[in-house]
Amino acid sequence: MKELICLGIESTAHTLGVGIVKGKKILANERSMYQTEEGGMIPSEVAEHHRKVKYDVLDKALATAKLSIEDIDVISFSQGPGLAPSLAAGMEFAKELAIKHKKPLVGVNHICAHLEIGRMITKAKDPVFVFVSGANTQIIAHEGGKYRIFGETLDIGLGNALDKFGRIVGLGFPAGPKIEELAKHGKLVELPYAVKGMDVAFSGIITKAESLYKKGTKVEDLCFSLQETCFAMLTEVTERAMAHCQKHEAILIGGVAANKRFCQMLDDMCKSRDSKFSPVPLQYCGDQGAMIAWQGLLVYTSCKNLPSIEDIDFNPKWRVDEVDTPWIK
Ligand code: ATP
Repeated sequence: MKELICLGIESTAHTLGVGIVKGKKILANERSMYQTEEGGMIPSEVAEHHRKVKYDVLDKALATAKLSIEDIDVISFSQGPGLAPSLAAGMEFAKELAIKHKKPLVGVNHICAHLEIGRMITKAKDPVFVFVSGANTQIIAHEGGKYRIFGETLDIGLGNALDKFGRIVGLGFPAGPKIEELAKHGKLVELPYAVKGMDVAFSGIITKAESLYKKGTKVEDLCFSLQETCFAMLTEVTERAMAHCQKHEAILIGGVAANKRFCQMLDDMCKSRDSKFSPVPLQYCGDQGAMIAWQGLLVYTSCKNLPSIEDIDFNPKWRVDEVDTPWIK
């Protein structure tokens, strides 16, 4: 049977990405990220960035894949969750291409796409997913025919919490890699261990670290202690999710997966349970189009009664536990 080729468009936040996959082969994964000299993201400017760069990113992806748009069988895009103006820009582009070139269009869930590319790349069959990026911190597993969130942050994502600490002590952005470096020279000071049931919270830990910093505690000691405390909290919740669901694999997704100490803790925990830990390689951890293309293929080949193009809309609040997963038998 002919392997289908899917072109996926990512636009949930700062990145406009175009990826192309043929079956499980990733043929292209091009992106352009909105950046600012200072300050954060202004949603209308992010959407403007996406509209400005979209044809360039598309052309680069097609050139890398050595394909023309006519060779594409299906087009997919990130339907949510994300920033509404960015989602609108991506959907508008996807619809424009699908109508102009008469291709089927599928909308996919962005978080689900992170999980599925992680599973495809690591070859994990049925893992517990530890998804820790800037804004997201969720422990997810597939149970009873759906992805379920077993634990999540009650306030901010761990990456954003580390970046916030970085701003307080002047480490610049992103602070995660610098915290990892400084932690190598630190020792443990006590910080609150904030696990509530299966959920976690980071704001209070950062507030405590800030007050210790103002009282003269060394930055290296705070970096070490932040890592040990926050990673231990997430490792504990991951272990309980694995035990509860009787799963024997864990994979780590999101920008914080770059942290070697976090990987080591999860790896140690998995080994002690005769289970396997796999970090997802960094180029497939962040936002990119290949994951949207792969998820597009899964949805297109497994879902019956896909909506027609006029009925497709974006959904900024689409949670992963609301997604039907007919591609998982
Ligand atoms: P989101 O997709 O949730 O909106 P994002 O796209 O900004 O957020 P990612 O690119 O997945 O998130 O991850 C960025 C985060 O990862 C930053 O908060 C950064 O500090 C953190 N990070 C990067 N490298 C490391 C590291 N070595 N250790 C800890 N954290 C890290």
